[in-house]
Amino acid sequence: MSDYEILDPRFREMVLPNAPLERLADGFRWLEGPVWFADLQCLLFSDIPNDRVMRWTATGGVSVFREPSRFANGHTRDREGRLIGCLHGGRALVRTEYDGSVTTLADHYQGKRLNSPNDVVVKSDGSLWFSDPPYGIQTDYEGGRREPELPANLYRLDPADGSLAAVCRGIAGPNGLCFSPDETLLYVTDTGVQFDPDSPRRILVFDVAGDGRALAHGRDFHEVSPGHADGIRCDEDGNVWAAAGDGVHCIAADGTLLGKIRVPCTVSNFCFGDRHYSRLFLCASQALYAIWINRRGAQRP
Ligand code: MG
Repeated sequence: MSDYEILDPRFREMVLPNAPLERLADGFRWLEGPVWFADLQCLLFSDIPNDRVMRWTATGGVSVFREPSRFANGHTRDREGRLIGCLHGGRALVRTEYDGSVTTLADHYQGKRLNSPNDVVVKSDGSLWFSDPPYGIQTDYEGGRREPELPANLYRLDPADGSLAAVCRGIAGPNGLCFSPDETLLYVTDTGVQFDPDSPRRILVFDVAGDGRALAHGRDFHEVSPGHADGIRCDEDGNVWAAAGDGVHCIAADGTLLGKIRVPCTVSNFCFGDRHYSRLFLCASQALYAIWINRRGAQRP
């Protein structure tokens, strides 16, 4: 039996009372960046301080997918199914080609080096939206200490011409991001300034404007506690699921906290995967967990 906290009756039918929280693997240092490959029936995820990307399958367990990974963090797949990765060490957004080679998609903006791309999502038009806080260049643990050259922006990479545009400035620590199912909204987590206990723990929401290429009307959506909202994902109905210090929180589109899936340690990020994208794979500190729920993910990379 899993440990649910039902704060709103709407949450009751979103979870499965007989679905256990499963601990799939452990022995990692700090997990992040999960992405499901339905065609390969596997999950890829980052073990950032160990500088490697891991692979999990139901039949084979865990193995190393890529090492060194240049301190890879967030992942997604583009519209052609290729792996897209954020690199702390490489300070870049990269794509793994079908032949296994790795192409740098973005590592500079206006002549200055990116900080340490953290998380990335793909929009239906093929554009890649990613956050670039300085977390990966503030410690040697998650990449390597360097001086930031740019503020912590949010970027949109145009697949047609490779151009990079800053779509949002002024967030102290832009981190996880996800589109609403109809892509009219973009949710962004702000995990604030590292080492500052008074930093914000909020989720912001923006209207997607400018022919789907820009953001407007940014406002507070929800404050997460305990911990920080790092990774976030929308389900098929537009509810926002957010990583938190005590598990995964489910927040309705109106900002109401509906309930929680309790996990014994901090969850940094998670993704929908497996059958019909209705299983959550949770990167929870040093362990990988999974749990089936009664909602499907909105975006299916
Ligand atoms: Mg993150």
